[in-house]
Amino acid sequence: MKQEDFRKSIKEPYLFHLHTRYTDGKLDAIDYFNFAKENGVRTIVFTEHVRQDLKYDFSAFVSEIREVEKQFPGIRAIIGAEAKLLPGGGLDINQVTNDQIDVLCFACHGFPDDHELYFESFATLFRDDKWKDKIRVFVHPGRYLKKRHVADIEIWKRLDDLIEIAVENGIFIEENKREMLPPSIDIVPEEWRITGYDIHHESGLENWRMGENNGK
Ligand SMILES: [Zn+2]
Ligand SMILES: [Zn+2]
Repeated sequence: MKQEDFRKSIKEPYLFHLHTRYTDGKLDAIDYFNFAKENGVRTIVFTEHVRQDLKYDFSAFVSEIREVEKQFPGIRAIIGAEAKLLPGGGLDINQVTNDQIDVLCFACHGFPDDHELYFESFATLFRDDKWKDKIRVFVHPGRYLKKRHVADIEIWKRLDDLIEIAVENGIFIEENKREMLPPSIDIVPEEWRITGYDIHHESGLENWRMGENNGK
């Protein structure tokens, strides 16, 4: 998928950053499509959690979405994955999964307590040519710092520098409405922002409905 096409698709109402019963969500693909139909959503970007060593069949997940999509003319699904950063700048995703997606989300989950390693690893990942043929999104930026209750403003400033490195490398920045991250979304040029609700349950859909920044 081309960057321009992706950007066009998020100019109209969209759902981005969603989980299903394949991992820790409580909704199925069809629930998202039904919601989309009722609420004028044109594009649904699925971003399921993945691992190098995946415990579910990613192909089955994709097939299910494509089957359901046929019943909803006018609503387009984009297949993405939320992959976690590995210490050193690698990514926890396998080739088979990577070949099936258009959107690759970079997340930090379960990382060692080492700020330096966190910043260096993300910077390395953002600059890595290996992932540059995908639409890439840095999701819930700063969750690592928030979880550790980092209060030092200098460390949060380094997150801003990291976000700048991401944008320089053509990476979209998620404005995560579930965690209200990053705190400094204002530094991100409009064309590099995407709004995500990190939806797992009905309540996430409700948050989207109440949200003002959903492409409407
Ligand atoms: Zn996440
Ligand atoms: Zn997520």
